Amino acid sequence: MPVTPARWLAEYAWLPEHAEPTPDVLIEVEDGRITAVTPLTPGSRPPAGVDVYADAVPLPGLTLPGLANVHSHAFHRALRGRTHGGRGDFWTWRDQMYAVADRLDPDTYLALARAVYAEMALAGITCVGEFHYLHHRPDGGAYDDPNAMGAALVEAAAHAGIRLTLLDACYLTSSVDGQALAGPQRRFGDGDAARWAERVAAFQPADSHVRVGAAVHSVRAVPADQLRTVADWARDRRAPLHVHLSEQPAENDECRAVHGRTPTALLAEHGVLGPDTTAVHATHPTSADLTVLGDSRTGVCLCPTTERDLADGIGPARRMADAGIRLSLGSDSHAVIDLFEEARAVELDERLRTRRRGHFAPADLLTAASVTGHAALGWADAGRIAVGARADLVTVRLDGPRTAGVPPVGLFFAATAGDVAQVLVDGRVVVAEGQHLSVDVPAELAAAIEAVTRQ
Ligand SMILES: [Zn+2]
Repeated sequence: MPVTPARWLAEYAWLPEHAEPTPDVLIEVEDGRITAVTPLTPGSRPPAGVDVYADAVPLPGLTLPGLANVHSHAFHRALRGRTHGGRGDFWTWRDQMYAVADRLDPDTYLALARAVYAEMALAGITCVGEFHYLHHRPDGGAYDDPNAMGAALVEAAAHAGIRLTLLDACYLTSSVDGQALAGPQRRFGDGDAARWAERVAAFQPADSHVRVGAAVHSVRAVPADQLRTVADWARDRRAPLHVHLSEQPAENDECRAVHGRTPTALLAEHGVLGPDTTAVHATHPTSADLTVLGDSRTGVCLCPTTERDLADGIGPARRMADAGIRLSLGSDSHAVIDLFEEARAVELDERLRTRRRGHFAPADLLTAASVTGHAALGWADAGRIAVGARADLVTVRLDGPRTAGVPPVGLFFAATAGDVAQVLVDGRVVVAEGQHLSVDVPAELAAAIEAVTRQ
């Protein structure tokens, strides 16, 4: 699709390395890239009555760089609000999640993911990392195209107008001690890591909005002697490598019982950690684990709204940052899709734990939600309002019921996804006046979820 050059005049824009937003910023875009960023100081303004910026389109509110949702399981969106009737924990929730997984095929998955990714676009998310393990038919047999489910996700992101990093997850066993996949888990498995690598290597979508990365589902799902195959596949291609890590104390206990070390130590020993690796959650690390993660320059993706929803616990975000770990954010199970909520939870959860305020500056929260997140998904040229960067611009209104009277620097403590007014992805307008331009998000969500939850 051709992209027209454009000049945008942001009432406020949050520029890289700035502690707070800058007023009156002219942002010029061509071929999907930012070509100029010019703060209009009083001295640079033309005399009254002369408007050389007449052709610039005003962006009232605060314009942010595109937000990156680093950890998503699109189909979990079908469970929102359906799992709160009884008691239970992560493991009882997981059984309900498997029941939905069992109902999906490439067509129903496309419809559901398209609506979910469009919901993300409405929330200012310009790139998503889909941690994908629904590979095969419910009985474990391959589709005619063994990557048909991944292809459905690629198409879904194209329809929704956002970029996608498909993190194809190796998922081979159901427990740390190597029990076989059973029931709804059978469709996750490729048999062994070599066959996983063969299938993923054959998946090479040409679309410019997608790149393919790798994932180790967890130490529960990939035996120790197969971890290096996945790590090498990613390293050879300089592809992002993600892994669920220590979300639950039970995973730590089982790993210690079977392998005599923590999940982090096991992953380090088998070459999984490193600067292109992102550990998801890391809610229950030891002090030594944090040192290993920091020293190996492994990032951590926090998913606070899911971690609270599933009663996982609070990850030690400040200690992670102090260990040199780069933090990013994900909405994971999509209990909510709102990176403002994820970002402020990083600070607010620390306050609950420590009974003190002021652990992360607002600019730190923006960095986690934007540039660090994009880098964790392999898009190092996105997430900054800077010359040469991808033209992803998210404009949030400052005149709504939640944001009126809030100073722009306080946005992350006031706004919700519902305050996003306009979203530009790679220079194209995807959301305008709070509406997605090509997807009727509520109607499509309702229909797609009905199709996979109908009794
Ligand atoms: Zn996850």
